[in-house]
Amino acid sequence: MSETLQGAISQLHKAAKYTEVPDEILDILQFPAEVLSSRLTIRMDNGARRSFQAWRCRYDGSRGPTKGGIRFHPDANMDEVVSLAFWMTFKCAVIGVPYGGAKGAVKVDTRELSKAELERLSRAYVHAFAGLIGPDRDIPAPDMYTNPMVMGWMMDEYCSLVGQHVPGVITGKPLAIGGSQGRSIATALGGFYVLQQLLKSLDLDKCEKRVVIQGFGNAGATMAEMLHKDGWKIVAVSDSSGGIYCKEGLDPVALAERKRKKGSVRDYDKSCGGGKIESIERDEMFECDCDLIIPAALESQITRDNASAIKARVILELANGPVTSDADEILQKNDVIVVPDILANAGGVTVSYFEWVQNKQGYYWIEQEVYDRLKPMMETESQAVWDLAESKKITLRTAAYVLGLERLVDAIKAVGTQAYFCP
Ligand code: NAD
Repeated sequence: MSETLQGAISQLHKAAKYTEVPDEILDILQFPAEVLSSRLTIRMDNGARRSFQAWRCRYDGSRGPTKGGIRFHPDANMDEVVSLAFWMTFKCAVIGVPYGGAKGAVKVDTRELSKAELERLSRAYVHAFAGLIGPDRDIPAPDMYTNPMVMGWMMDEYCSLVGQHVPGVITGKPLAIGGSQGRSIATALGGFYVLQQLLKSLDLDKCEKRVVIQGFGNAGATMAEMLHKDGWKIVAVSDSSGGIYCKEGLDPVALAERKRKKGSVRDYDKSCGGGKIESIERDEMFECDCDLIIPAALESQITRDNASAIKARVILELANGPVTSDADEILQKNDVIVVPDILANAGGVTVSYFEWVQNKQGYYWIEQEVYDRLKPMMETESQAVWDLAESKKITLRTAAYVLGLERLVDAIKAVGTQAYFCP
């Protein structure tokens, strides 16, 4: 078992100390319900065939159909998929959407594929996992290096296989085929609402508002733009090419435009910052003088090796699993507050849920309606996690797991546990 998966499962046991959980339920939640591994073989543009490893894990479906993204990444592996599916299970419970947790991945570097090859691979994924996914069984969505275009191909493939129009089989689709307004910014917007709700309690309302963002992709770049508009100074950002720093603050809109044209944040020009911009190593990012760090790239980025150097007072996890469990302990000792992924990035799955509801109704909401429904959900659950942390004197992460676990326990108990039979 990998360190990431061990860390994920250890959260379950930590949370179980603060609420009543029958042993049989802890047993259920220790293992994924279903993991399928498959080989995807596609025809490349040059006529050759190439095979890729792929996985789908449905971790637990006690609260509803399972839900989770599909990641295309060269380092993808089964343990990572299971960990991500475990986190999705708790995330859906914490934010209160009626879903269980799942995740999928293909081990691939998409930069090596043409668009036509990417389409064949996306369709091959649906072929391989068609028996597992479905609008009332398991509903995929985008994750790292997958996007609405990929979701569109996948939905089309599923519809061809079952001979019906089934938009609710996948979320994060283009608007033209049943996507939801607001889905593309939902993860960042949800994180922004969480931050707003907790600003006073986190003691950040009177700070200098300097933020460092790791990962300038969908979630990170959108969050940078929202924070910038709200008066925050984006002092450093990074992507897979490396990091950049500007004491006076970067302009995320100009930077995103530059990255779109040139490919990386390292290809900045003068218009991207309010002062001198310097290139920095990816690892130096976390040591910058700042008030808030937002990891929005990969898991296991803040570890026992770099946690002690962090000067920020708060870390808001937009990425899944960016802080390892031993780093968590160091941060707690140093009074750095971590707003956990299963709350901070839950805006994405919440608007995915809205998309699925709209697909089922065949009736589509205007953009403002999406935001009006998202905001109270993020605020209510953020406050619930904060209040639980305060009352039990535990970290926000443990509190979020306790809240999620209580909801999972309620669902599992409702279909019958030992207590039904041996009162
Ligand atoms: P994305 O592919 O759009 O962006 C990822 C960014 O991270 C890219 O800019 C990439 O260059 C950068 N990156 C990769 N490796 C890096 C490294 N070592 N150091 C610095 N930057 C690096 O992906 P995304 O959709 O923004 O997702 C980012 C994270 O947020 C992932 O952990 C994902 O699971 C999580 N997340 C995303 C959503 C969503 O709706 N997009 C929802 C919940 C959670």
